[in-house]
Amino acid sequence: MTKKIISVIVAILLVSVSIISFAANEGQLKNEMQNLQNNIKEANEQIEEIEGKVDSAMKELQTLNAEISEKEDQIDTLNSELGTLNEEINTISGKLKEEQEKYDNQYDILCKRIVAQYKAGTVSYLDVLLNSKSLSSFISNYYLIGKIAEYDTELLEKIKEQKTAIEKSKTELEGKQSTLKEKQAALKVEEIQLSNKKANKNKYVSQLNDEQKELQRQIDEMEAQYKQKEREWQELARKNGNNSGGYVYTGGKLRWPCPGYSRISSRFGYRGSAATGGVGSSNHKGIDMAAPHGTAILAAESGAVISVSNNCTHDYAKTYKTRCSCGGGYGNYIMISHGNGLVTLYAHCSSISVKVGQTVTIGQQIGTVGTTGYSTGNHLHFGVLLNGNYVDPAPYLNM
Ligand SMILES: [Zn+2]
Ligand SMILES: [Zn+2]
Repeated sequence: MTKKIISVIVAILLVSVSIISFAANEGQLKNEMQNLQNNIKEANEQIEEIEGKVDSAMKELQTLNAEISEKEDQIDTLNSELGTLNEEINTISGKLKEEQEKYDNQYDILCKRIVAQYKAGTVSYLDVLLNSKSLSSFISNYYLIGKIAEYDTELLEKIKEQKTAIEKSKTELEGKQSTLKEKQAALKVEEIQLSNKKANKNKYVSQLNDEQKELQRQIDEMEAQYKQKEREWQELARKNGNNSGGYVYTGGKLRWPCPGYSRISSRFGYRGSAATGGVGSSNHKGIDMAAPHGTAILAAESGAVISVSNNCTHDYAKTYKTRCSCGGGYGNYIMISHGNGLVTLYAHCSSISVKVGQTVTIGQQIGTVGTTGYSTGNHLHFGVLLNGNYVDPAPYLNM
């Protein structure tokens, strides 16, 4: 073997070793990106769950506030009722005191009268008769004392009756007062219970907010990591833009990779992000060609296959909620290096028929259209990288 042949073999070996190491690193990076995407998705779902919990807790708080203000109203009403009742009790107590004084006075009068009658009673009829100026004066003296005492007794009885009636209504009022006081105490207990419940709910909501903040912080961190991985990935792609198995792209039109299907469902560049109802990133890094499942995908140019990712089994249309992030969202994909820094990418394949390190010629079938990865329906996502940067494929396709 001549030195020249050996050096060519070494060069080819070096190229394939470097392609395989690129494929390994590229696949590794895409897996890491995929894991990050999954974790971000999970964290976002947890945030949604927390938001749901916060919503229902806020509704419960509203109900609690309404209940508390209702209790406060009831307590206010009760307080004014108690105030009125206290006034009534004071008035009635005053009346009772007056009545008691009347009774005491009357009692004194009666006692004096009875003493007088008693005295009259102990005097003999003869004495009264002898001492009275006349019989009629004797009779009237004796009779009158008795009559007056009788009248005083009646009066006393009446006062006593009235006093009893007042006492009865006072007792009633006091009964009512103690019922209201019991009711008031019960309401205050209920109010305290509601306030405690409210404080607990508020604590719960602030815990939820803390959890949400922590999750958001984690998401931000993961998104930063994702961007870093993406940059590393682009750097790798840039370095491998020349690992083309000897092919050197010197300009000119790339072949349409999806013959018979020219409808572009999404162009390169800005489009609605997932948050606004669109799909994928707001910066679309390729063009989407709508084609039925199983349509042949052809190599747009000759070159070497530098990467194959073929581990997504989710070949069905997805929504933002049901999306998978296999292959960093590309699902099953192929990357071909054409030399001079130019790389093409074919994503969301349903099948792949080439291997890493294999050289392909322009127009050769490399796989079939599918909807693996983060894809809402069957299509080919066709990407073009120049020196590691995604560029608009349109000019390369003479669109
Ligand atoms: Zn998948
Ligand atoms: Zn796309």
